[in-house]
Amino acid sequence: MRLTHTIAELRAELARYERAAFVPTMGNLHAGHIALVKQAKPLGDVTVASIFVNRLQFLPHEDFGTYPRTLQADCAQLEAAGCDVVFAPSEAELYPEPQGYKVQPPPELADILEGHFRPGFFTGVCTVVLKLFNIVQPGVAVFGAKDYQQQMVIRRMVAQLGLPIEIVTGPTLRAESGLALSSRNGYLSASERAEAVQLSRTLQGMVVALQNGEHNLAAIEQHAMHTLKSRGWLPDYMTVRRRHDLQPPQAADLVHPGTLVVLGAAKLGTTRLIDNLEV
Ligand code: AMP
Repeated sequence: MRLTHTIAELRAELARYERAAFVPTMGNLHAGHIALVKQAKPLGDVTVASIFVNRLQFLPHEDFGTYPRTLQADCAQLEAAGCDVVFAPSEAELYPEPQGYKVQPPPELADILEGHFRPGFFTGVCTVVLKLFNIVQPGVAVFGAKDYQQQMVIRRMVAQLGLPIEIVTGPTLRAESGLALSSRNGYLSASERAEAVQLSRTLQGMVVALQNGEHNLAAIEQHAMHTLKSRGWLPDYMTVRRRHDLQPPQAADLVHPGTLVVLGAAKLGTTRLIDNLEV
């Protein structure tokens, strides 16, 4: 496996390949990231992972400064997974001057849910992902369903801007408890980690309510918010949406199984966790 830090090194390394399969990450890798790399591997003739903590997608009060940076351990995991090339640029390499040109995703998709609670988040994500796409020039890129809205925003960007890149979404990898794996789980204390599974459990409760024919979405959402609040969480949203556009379902959507997704984001102590389940 080759570890590259500059665009020039990466380009030289990739020149002899036809179709790169690309997995962008912010590092501090866990089994969920590694599963995406393994999924990517047969999709191209070279597998590339990037590791870059992207300042543009953090708000000033968020955890940019403390986000775990574990390059050596990440590389060991990537090598074991059969990754061929790692691109881990410095900030000076990726943003040699302030990034004045930015990708502004459409508000109906990017200013709701995560984008509502983290203004500018998807502009930061789209800008760095487009830049990484231009640098790596992959034939295919793999994103996690764990960040459901993010993979949708990226898919729309690729479609609207006519990028010749296939976008593949990999399933969310979970701990045995049901907790979605996340780099931010490392912030949790032992007792918080035991409690953290309640986010996916509560989402699961929303799924069961829908499957049992409950059509009062406001009641489902309020019940889920209340469940988490009563356990000491600070939920941002627990909501039922249509899969294809993340808008609130209409009555007609509720009679078609396989069209919905429940999504949630909530703070446990100082750690903000997100998760979702397709219904
Ligand atoms: P991040 O390093 O958090 O930016 O995530 C990099 C990629 O890994 C994104 O496409 C995420 O959606 C994906 N990812 C994060 N957690 C998981 C998980 N538990 N299962 C599958 N993919 C994940």
